[in-house]
Amino acid sequence: MRKRRQAAKREAVPLASVRPWKPARPKGEVRAAIVSLLLDRDGPRCHWCRRPLGSDVSIEHLRPLSRGGGNDLDNLALAHRGCNK
Ligand SMILES: [Zn+2]
Repeated sequence: MRKRRQAAKREAVPLASVRPWKPARPKGEVRAAIVSLLLDRDGPRCHWCRRPLGSDVSIEHLRPLSRGGGNDLDNLALAHRGCNK
């Protein structure tokens, strides 16, 4: 009887030890998909200065994550790295 109770205890997994879920797709592939969607929506221009984007493209959060912004497309835009305010 006592043995059985110990076995059950070992099976319990503490929530803190569960690793967060990660997408199966490689990060670069996800980034490329987001850039493609934003190019279709906004065109190939920097969100801040409106000049054409070159190879220097970064994905900007319009409302920073630190201020409660999210990763949804409505909160993302393409910009030159140097134009990020
Ligand atoms: Zn710019």
